[in-house]
Amino acid sequence: MDTVDAVVIGAGVVGLAVARALALAGHEVMLLEAENAMGTGTSSRNSEVIHAGIYYPAGSLKAQLCVQGKTMLYAYCQERGLGHQRCGKLIVATSPEQVAQLGQIQAKARANGVDDLVLLTRAQAQAMEPALQCLAALHSPSTGIVDSHALMLSYLGDMENAGGLLALNASVQEVRLNHGSASHPHVLVMQDGTELACHTLVNSAGLTAPDLTQRMSGLAVPFQTQAYYAKGNYFTLAGRSPFSRLIYPVPEAAGLGVHLTLDLGGQAKFGPDVQWVQSKDDLQVDPARGDAFYAEVRKYWPALPDGALQAGYAGIRPKISGPQAAAADFVIQGPVLHGVPGLVNLLGIESPGLTSSLAIAQRVCAEATFAGGHA
Ligand SMILES: Cc1cc2nc3c(=O)[nH]c(=O)nc-3n(C[C@H](O)[C@H](O)[C@H](O)COP(=O)(O)OP(=O)(O)OC[C@H]3O[C@@H](n4cnc5c(N)ncnc54)[C@H](O)[C@@H]3O)c2cc1C
Repeated sequence: MDTVDAVVIGAGVVGLAVARALALAGHEVMLLEAENAMGTGTSSRNSEVIHAGIYYPAGSLKAQLCVQGKTMLYAYCQERGLGHQRCGKLIVATSPEQVAQLGQIQAKARANGVDDLVLLTRAQAQAMEPALQCLAALHSPSTGIVDSHALMLSYLGDMENAGGLLALNASVQEVRLNHGSASHPHVLVMQDGTELACHTLVNSAGLTAPDLTQRMSGLAVPFQTQAYYAKGNYFTLAGRSPFSRLIYPVPEAAGLGVHLTLDLGGQAKFGPDVQWVQSKDDLQVDPARGDAFYAEVRKYWPALPDGALQAGYAGIRPKISGPQAAAADFVIQGPVLHGVPGLVNLLGIESPGLTSSLAIAQRVCAEATFAGGHA
């Protein structure tokens, strides 16, 4: 059986960032990806927004890692010449109740260290975006967009330059946890039955990460996690976008509301909505959901023409709490929690996981090497 220093399971944007960080820190790294290409999971099915860190509970990992990750991501994109744009966003209130909520959102953002939000009157918002209908708005100047594929390729390049290896078609089926030491390494069993040993193991398998915790012998039952799936459907806009900034309604329970985002080519899309599903492979967009999109979007863009929305794509949020429960924070389950040296499980890494990827990677490196880890 071959032994490597560190294995990362899952080559999405987070697994790539983690593998990069471990390789840059001097570790021998193997990144295992079940599919035949990297970045084909949730990392290629999101809004590509660099979030400012506005909505998350103060002190949560989402708040800390988003704010930290945003700064790191802008600096990284700048340094590497990766496509990105600090286009800003407007959070729009379309009812008197929502106007009151804008102040609360601004206070929440301040508690997270995001103190650049500006409250706008209707006239000020419409001067920025003439097609917009609203009663008031918040402007977030530090929100932006990024070319997530270029970003993932760049993370991969950094990892490979530092000696790390990406193995495709490499699906991990089970893990036998040990001490992670030279004499008792962790053992991974692959789909074809081959085995691979390692000292440090990072489970960054996205939607499958909770299931993998249930296939880790040696992980105490309380740390084995249940997965829930909240699909987000997108509809694309035919023709030119009338907006040059991202437009978000005041957020709802499980998502941020049907918002308008732009890609770097200026193409607009609306979504994601929230549809709880049973399967992580349920990725078809039902065109009938478009009716609800027209209604939601017309609250802030009444001139949306009939027939302008086309069913786009869907992504599934890797939830670890169900529809009735409060939204869970990111979980970075390391040795200090579960007591297994060198093991880190990344669970519930939904939005703002893309924005937070570099900060998550930094945190994971510290966790993996904590108290007897061998990275
Ligand atoms: C609809 C939607 C919109 C979003 N919008 C944004 C946004 O605008 N901004 C933002 O910051 N975040 C956003 N996010 C969140 C962001 O997309 C995710 O946090 C991020 O992509 C997660 O990356 P990951 O590497 O953890 O997971 P993934 O991209 O899912 O990667 C996991 C990888 O693991 C592989 N894998 C699974 N099981 C195994 C196995 N057993 N063995 C080997 N490999 C395995 C998979 O094939 C996959 O490639 C959004 C998410 C969704 C769903």
